[in-house]
Amino acid sequence: MNVSTEVLTGADWCRFIVAAADAIDAHSDELSHLDSLTGDGDHGANVATALGHARSQIAHHDDASPGTVLAMTADSFLDHMGGAAGALFGSFFAAAAASLGDTDAVDVRQFADAIAIGTAVVTKRGKASAGDKTMIDALIPAVVASRRAADQGVSVDEMLQLTAQAARDGATATTRMRASVGRARYTGDKSVGIQDPGATSVALIFESWAEAARRPEADR
Ligand code: ADP
Ligand code: MG
Repeated sequence: MNVSTEVLTGADWCRFIVAAADAIDAHSDELSHLDSLTGDGDHGANVATALGHARSQIAHHDDASPGTVLAMTADSFLDHMGGAAGALFGSFFAAAAASLGDTDAVDVRQFADAIAIGTAVVTKRGKASAGDKTMIDALIPAVVASRRAADQGVSVDEMLQLTAQAARDGATATTRMRASVGRARYTGDKSVGIQDPGATSVALIFESWAEAARRPEADR
């Protein structure tokens, strides 16, 4: 994969999931620390466990289709991660996988549709709205950015960069929000000033994909 590539193959998605697992491993303590300030302090370990499981599953299936890679990732979240976020991330990846069907090459439009459908399912299951200080506050800007990128007809690489930036900006913006759903709602006003851990995980995952897309062939 490089900047001129127009589609993402199953092998690209395998690299994306490995990159996401590595990124979460590197930030696991920081994520759990954020969760300890507004919740129970398990978020980094939770996501690291789920994505670590996905990474080892995918190692045996490097010829899988994009949808199969995402379905395996969904199962890792649903079967190996506790906490509210496990079910929500699991639902996100399962819906994105279903949206991709059995295609073996995901273009910009299909990527944008997959994350939009995944986000819609998270919103439906978790019943959080924009501004509630959850992962939704990083997912929604990512969906908007990827849709805009698809409408503009940019390359896959450019779309991934724009989507990652939007997710990061969304996660940063949660710092000034007051939590009103999930465990963090019990901290009330004390949650203001702390970045939401779930939104931070979303930003790290999209950033890891944008970075993986730019990594030179020799380093993959
Ligand atoms: P738990 O809160 O059960 O310990 P985690 O610590 O793994 O689960 O995940 C916490 C994150 O989950 C929060 O930072 C938030 O982003 C996300 N979250 C919690 N509840 C919801 C919800 N109803 N909708 C969307 N995201 C949620
Ligand atoms: Mg927690």
